[in-house]
Amino acid sequence: MRWFRPFRKKSPWVLHYNAGSCNGCDIEILAALGPKFDLERFGVINTGNPKQSDIFLVTGPVTYRSRERIVELYAQIPEPKVVVAVGSCTATGGVFRGMYNVEDGIDRYIPVDVYVPGCAASPQLIVDALVKGREILEAKSREIEKPLRLFGAIETIGHKLSRLKMATRLHEKGENDEQA
Ligand code: SF4
Repeated sequence: MRWFRPFRKKSPWVLHYNAGSCNGCDIEILAALGPKFDLERFGVINTGNPKQSDIFLVTGPVTYRSRERIVELYAQIPEPKVVVAVGSCTATGGVFRGMYNVEDGIDRYIPVDVYVPGCAASPQLIVDALVKGREILEAKSREIEKPLRLFGAIETIGHKLSRLKMATRLHEKGENDEQA
């Protein structure tokens, strides 16, 4: 797992989901991915599969229709994962707040790691948020690896002890054979 961490940090894959946005923030995400802001220089790839994603990029207010899908997509993204809420709608409902079909902010349903302010959020801020997301992703990877490292250390000690036991047994057997 440890060897995997640099690759994840250098090339986080993103799942972009429109929860009910006016498309303003989505266009800015496309601009950030385009040649001018070139988000791909950080290794960011926009993927359509939650099971291959590291960063969940959500735009728009959470509507009654999209809330279950958001939770489902979030659950399908493997750990460690980072959630980036793009635009004021995703954070609070924004200009759609109080409408009959709109919930409040996304953090009522899933935990958010980075908020991108603005209506629409600018491509520069989206690039900044994803760079920050990479750092958070690496920190979360380290947290997940801690118990694995401990388990690995215990396993190594166990192997060393069993080898020592075997060597002692062989030595004793050799001595008994010499006496006989
Ligand atoms: S924050 Fe503004 S631009 Fe972005 S989805 Fe909401 S209304 Fe549209």
